[in-house]
Amino acid sequence: TQKVVIVGGVGGGATVAAQIRRNDKDSEVIIFDKGNHISFSNCGMPYYIGGTVEERDNLLIPTDKFMEKYDVDVRVNSEVIAIDRNQKLIQYSTASGIKEETYDKLILSPGASANAPNIEGINEKRTFTLHTIPDMDQIHSFIKEKKPKTAAIVGAGFIGMEMVENLHALGLDCTVIDRSKQVTKIIEKDMASIVEDHLKEKNVKLILDDGLASFSNDGRELLLTSGKTVQADMTILAIGIKPNTKLAIDASLKLGETGAIHVNEFMQTTDPDIYALGDAVETMDQITKTTRHVALAWPAHRQAFIIASHLDGEIIAYSGTLGSAILKIFDLTVGATGHTSTSLKRLGYTFKEATLSTYSYARYYPGSDKLWLKVLFDEKSGAIYGAHVVGFAGADKRLAVLATAIKAKLTVADLPELELAYAPPYSSSKDPINILGYKASAALER
Ligand code: FAD
Repeated sequence: TQKVVIVGGVGGGATVAAQIRRNDKDSEVIIFDKGNHISFSNCGMPYYIGGTVEERDNLLIPTDKFMEKYDVDVRVNSEVIAIDRNQKLIQYSTASGIKEETYDKLILSPGASANAPNIEGINEKRTFTLHTIPDMDQIHSFIKEKKPKTAAIVGAGFIGMEMVENLHALGLDCTVIDRSKQVTKIIEKDMASIVEDHLKEKNVKLILDDGLASFSNDGRELLLTSGKTVQADMTILAIGIKPNTKLAIDASLKLGETGAIHVNEFMQTTDPDIYALGDAVETMDQITKTTRHVALAWPAHRQAFIIASHLDGEIIAYSGTLGSAILKIFDLTVGATGHTSTSLKRLGYTFKEATLSTYSYARYYPGSDKLWLKVLFDEKSGAIYGAHVVGFAGADKRLAVLATAIKAKLTVADLPELELAYAPPYSSSKDPINILGYKASAALER
């Protein structure tokens, strides 16, 4: 038995505690979280704001239930402020002062923080980020009490796009602002334009290639770098995150090239008694074997399993991250796995691409809708480097098949051979994945 201390009790931290208890009923496990809640569903927060998830409690697991179920000591409102690696203890700060706790093994899952620059003229009461339950509650009560009519969403990534949909559902007139030339950079510009058209169809105003410079009029007017102005009763800043690395830096643990915590394939930091996982770490990219910082729930959960196994003497290596991601933008599904041409070019890869604009299933069957697919691949070996999907019904299925194909090291020449089940409500006798494979195979060097 050993004493395991976990810093952070949500995506990675709560999962690793639960995983430890799979086989190990005896070790002492203590979770510290600086917030008031553990094991909450961050991913559900936009949908509570928009009303799709009606009950706030459905996003939360009561701490006492978690403690009882997993026999874990959970200390909320307790921020770990320092690690003493020589004495193997941590210091944590609570309302009743600074305390200490020793450990045999320490696990860091402190996540990331939303970027929130102190922009000139900002009014904190009407400008929000969304990363924690208190952030969600603030947005929710602002909408309820102040009844805003207009919203600006700065940043057209995951959280920005999910917030547009949910604020729009509440009847707010939304403007999205992003400094890049396209929305959703997990896919490429040609496919992002489909998303942009869809946003416009929903009467969302879109300002691209332009950034927020400052606020005026008590935070109600956004001044953009181009000189344009946008009026908004509330603003969501969804302009990225940065990994929480202060504890690791102060303890002289190595950071990686991306600025996140460096770990080996067993998720150990440069101190073998200290593991780290989730949004705070960088891991290896499964395809290019270069380092990559991916802040998503799947890696955190898989890494939790790897750590719990390692503590239990079972040596399983984390095989790296693909960055498979999916999101809903109004009626559209947008997803990607692996790389975009931007990241491949940055890494010096040469590659080809095949694209397909088709239908999700038999056109004559009611509800059949448009589907766009793209695959990036090596022109000699046919190895798949990345795949992108945009569509309606069945888009998520095609993304899952392509992510599985990459993991299984299938090439584009294998895609026509995938015998994917067909009946008119689901597919066509040649599935769109098969057709994409035929197109890509035809472009292979002979
Ligand atoms: P977190 O889950 O953020 O947990 C970190 C915890 O550590 C926090 O509770 C924090 O309070 C605590 N902490 C930090 N420092 C300290 C300290 N010094 N002492 C004590 N406690 C500390 N991912 C997806 O794959 N799909 C999605 O649809 C999706 N949607 C999302 C929507 C939103 C709005 C957000 C914010 C995230 C979303 N994510 C999504 C990302 C996903 O939630 C994260 O990748 C995952 O939660 C990472 O787990 P983590 O343990 O690294 O960090």
